[in-house]
Amino acid sequence: NNETIEQTIERLGAVVPDYPKPGVVFRDLTPVFAGGEAFRAVVDSLLAEYKGRFDYVAGIEARGFLLAAAAAYAAGKGVLTVRKPGKLPRDTYSESYSMEYSENTLEVHQDDFPAGSRILILDDVLATGGTLGATARLIEQAGGIVAGFGVVLELRDLGGRTALHDYPVHALAAY
Ligand code: AMP
Repeated sequence: NNETIEQTIERLGAVVPDYPKPGVVFRDLTPVFAGGEAFRAVVDSLLAEYKGRFDYVAGIEARGFLLAAAAAYAAGKGVLTVRKPGKLPRDTYSESYSMEYSENTLEVHQDDFPAGSRILILDDVLATGGTLGATARLIEQAGGIVAGFGVVLELRDLGGRTALHDYPVHALAAY
C-alpha cells in the first residue's frame, strides 16, 4: 500500500493517558512491533538512515532490545545491551539520569566492544532525551563513538532533540 512509515506508526500506536503516572501520555508501540510488516518497515527505516556508518547496534532495556536485535541481525552486526542496574554480570559503567516520569540508572559492560567502534543506539520513544543522553555517555566511557540515535517516535514538546544536539537523531515519526 501507499502508507508512509509515519502513517503506519500513527495508525498502530496506542495512546494511553495517565500511564504510568497522572499527566503522562504514554505512547505504546507494542502494536507496531506486533504488526509484522510494520515492524520490518520500522527496523529497515532505522537502518537505512545509518547504512554503512556503524559497527554495533545498542538497544536500551527493554523495548530498545527488540529494535536493536532485529536491526543488528538484518545488518549482520553485533548487538549490545544497555541495561538496568545489577543485570550485567561483569564490570560495568553506570549512569544515572532523570527521564519523563522517573529517575533511572543504566549500565554497560566495560569491554563489550573494541575502542573506537561506532555504535548505533536504538530505542522506541524519545521524550526528554535523558535516556539516550545517558546511553551516549556510557558508550563513550567504554571507548565507543556514537554513530547516532534512532527512535520510532519523538515527542517534540519534551525537547529531547535539543538536549541531544551533539548527536544525529533520526525519528521515524514525531508528535
Ligand atoms: P526520556 O529519557 O525522557 O527521553 O524517555 C525515553 C524513555 O522512556 C524511552 O525508553 C521510552 O520508552 C520511555 N518513555 C518516556 N516517555 C514515554 C512516553 N510518553 N510514551 C512511551 N514511552 C516513554
